[in-house]
Amino acid sequence: MTRTERARLTLDRLRDAIERPETELQYRTEFELLVAVILSAQCTDARVNLVTPDLFAAYPTPEAMAKVEADEIFPYIRSVSYPNNKAKALAATARMLVEDFGGEVPRTHKELTTLRGVGRKTANVIVAVAFDEPAIAVDTHVFRVANRIGLVDDAPTPLAVEDGLRRVIPREDWGEAHHLLILHGRYTCTARSPKCEACLLTDLCQYYARLQKLPIPLTGLDPKKGTYFCKTNGRYFDEPTTKTDRYGVEQLADPVSGSMNVFLTKTGETTKRIKDYRIG
Ligand code: SF4
Repeated sequence: MTRTERARLTLDRLRDAIERPETELQYRTEFELLVAVILSAQCTDARVNLVTPDLFAAYPTPEAMAKVEADEIFPYIRSVSYPNNKAKALAATARMLVEDFGGEVPRTHKELTTLRGVGRKTANVIVAVAFDEPAIAVDTHVFRVANRIGLVDDAPTPLAVEDGLRRVIPREDWGEAHHLLILHGRYTCTARSPKCEACLLTDLCQYYARLQKLPIPLTGLDPKKGTYFCKTNGRYFDEPTTKTDRYGVEQLADPVSGSMNVFLTKTGETTKRIKDYRIG
């Protein structure tokens, strides 16, 4: 199966499963969307939605927010992550909107990234959601899901994922694909424990295929002989070393033979881990 076919099937199935592929941030205007997206960096949409009603009531326009300093914005957003930096970013961005863009949110990616607190991902979200322009914003969910499924080839950075997705997804689907992949990552293909048993993509997913190849647990191991057991040479030991496998994942290894065929003696489970793709 080509990557393009895998992408097409993935989006078809996610479309069937996800009723409303759109942002979960609550906003009424382009300015409110910009503020909400800046606040959502390394924070959940649910948390942002808790603080924005009061913030938007106090500062409904760029002009209103441009009149105040960051420390006046801070109390409204203190419960989101990095509130100090985000308060400063909002104050500076509101002033730039008023002074440089006539109080409007600019429409181009280039102009948007001149605003404080607006990087490539945020700008992509704004142009796609507010202005219906084709763009794929890669956040932590899109990064993980695209790599796990194999829509991109072990892409190491958000920009590499964005480039890879643009190659395999038709331009007119970029905005929708962004939301479908985010929602799939948020609710099904979660970072710590992906819900593969409930997923519609198991036959397409490379991560799932690797999961199936993990060794089954061993029985009859004796924890008194050591914390770990190497199946390759039948050796118990307590102090493992680490090696990096062909997927770039550090795995526990037998310090004598270097074998990564290592099991926990208490549970019999393999210590092998599959790369689960976190940004950074
Ligand atoms: S099968 Fe599992 S890892 Fe693959 S996309 Fe579905 S939830 Fe994610």
